Amino acid sequence: MQSQLLPPPSLPEIHDRSTLLEEPTSTAWHNPRPAHQYNLVILGGGPAGIMAARSAAVLGAKVALIERNRLGGTCLNTGCIPSKAILRTSSLYADMRNAEKFGAQVPKDIKVDFAAVMARMRHIRARLGSRASAEALSTLGIDVYYSAGCFTARNSVAVDGQILRFKKALIATGARPLAPAVPGLNETGYLTHENVFDLTECPPRLLVIGGGPLGCELGQAFCRLGSKVTIVEKEPMFLSQEERDAAQILSGALARDGIDVRLNTDAVAVRKQGNEQFVDLVSDDYRSTVVVDQILVGIGRAPNVENLNLEAVGVKYSCDSGVKVNDFLQTTNSRIYAAGDVCLEHKFMHFEDASARLVVHNALFWGRERLSALTIPWCTYTDPEIAHVGLYVTEAIRKCIPVKTFTVPMHDVDRAIADGEEEGFVKIHVKEGSDKILGATVVARHAGEMINDITLAIGSRLGMDALARVIHPYPTQAAAIKMAADSYRRTRLTSTRKWLLRRWLAC
Ligand SMILES: Cc1cc2nc3c(=O)[nH]c(=O)nc-3n(C[C@H](O)[C@H](O)[C@H](O)COP(=O)(O)OP(=O)(O)OC[C@H]3O[C@@H](n4cnc5c(N)ncnc54)[C@H](O)[C@@H]3O)c2cc1C
Repeated sequence: MQSQLLPPPSLPEIHDRSTLLEEPTSTAWHNPRPAHQYNLVILGGGPAGIMAARSAAVLGAKVALIERNRLGGTCLNTGCIPSKAILRTSSLYADMRNAEKFGAQVPKDIKVDFAAVMARMRHIRARLGSRASAEALSTLGIDVYYSAGCFTARNSVAVDGQILRFKKALIATGARPLAPAVPGLNETGYLTHENVFDLTECPPRLLVIGGGPLGCELGQAFCRLGSKVTIVEKEPMFLSQEERDAAQILSGALARDGIDVRLNTDAVAVRKQGNEQFVDLVSDDYRSTVVVDQILVGIGRAPNVENLNLEAVGVKYSCDSGVKVNDFLQTTNSRIYAAGDVCLEHKFMHFEDASARLVVHNALFWGRERLSALTIPWCTYTDPEIAHVGLYVTEAIRKCIPVKTFTVPMHDVDRAIADGEEEGFVKIHVKEGSDKILGATVVARHAGEMINDITLAIGSRLGMDALARVIHPYPTQAAAIKMAADSYRRTRLTSTRKWLLRRWLAC
């Protein structure tokens, strides 16, 4: 299955304007007159651009921030925030349906008010958006321009008919959805994360193409909000980069929710009859057809490198992997840096945030901070959540590092039992013969919160001994981390040490 680029994003259609604290767009905002020269000109007002603008402005730099669409970028408008807002409501519905297991009684016919779910999401998005508004950024001394920007020379950018001269520039133009080249898909129409949050009615039947984080999170959310969901994934497991047992737990959880899970499956053709979409699927030699009302595509994102005139300023890039940067996030033009989805393999909001801070340090203050030195965790916010930091076992083996893994199943953790959230595990990989933590995977209801202790340990070069010394309030699910560290400690008790201890105690 080949993939293709979608056109650049347009302003999402907004159905409930009354709940929005609208951000100014180019029509409502007056672009400022450019300063003589800027310390930093930033293309793209997503998380990476805004973080860099704020950090640089607070330190006294003269900054221009250029955004062609909506400040806040993917994360605020069509990514992290809207998806987490609807996941919250969908997990509430799942909890209500399971209430009897907890000894609670709720009416049998719980109705989902989908329009209200989406209105809540939009309200949250607007509330958070007001923090990143042009007015709020202007109060920090940042010159905000609403329009597409592009390079005109090695030290200047054009925006809205004006030329901005810079000492340093940052490309933070993000990425946009890829769509699979399935015959008929373009003609019949489909959803991506750019427009799925505009829905005001829940599609009765939804096909999700792609079993990565986006497909799994939104597939589970829509299922719990009332859609009959099918997820097709061409690989043999979801979240193909995660540990196999983690992905298997997720498959089981999605299937238990009622999702029709189709692994090893390709969507090969789509056709429309009336309001229904007929999608042909192929799994090995088996062909089948599903009939759905909407198709949501989540197969990855491509960097926004077009129309920036990068060739003219000596910035190398590829349409697949984005702007080429070194470990200091400098492009092939030493005045120009890049951060965020436009250049990074891992496309996460917190990575953009960290990479933007790194750029400000390196570009404006002769810093030498390296991308490779960052410890970056990530999490897929399904139920259960799957969080990871550091190396996977396969990576460690590839690097010829001997690994010993310490695993604690959540059903051994008191708080998880009390919470009825026993699915999952904490798994910590250690360099054999040492207490050095190489990486960890946590599968648990709140894995995204739990992974932080291990991230801190790795980032601060603390080992399993240090984790074993942490005192947790009782009872918490994060105690599983200490239990894993305790089991590491027990392995340090060699037979000689045990013999010595026995002798000492016998005295
Ligand atoms: C559904 C979904 C859920 C997600 N959930 C999470 C999550 O839970 N946690 C997490 O860490 N990450 C999550 N992500 C990923 C996260 O949203 C992105 O990694 C993050 O938004 C990237 O930030 P960025 O600043 O690099 O790019 P973007 O957010 O894409 O921002 C780039 C901005 O640049 C602008 N732009 C582009 N070209 C130009 C130009 N020529 N001139 C001016 N402006 C331009 C664009 O309009 C855009 O506003 C999710 C993504 C999706 C799609």
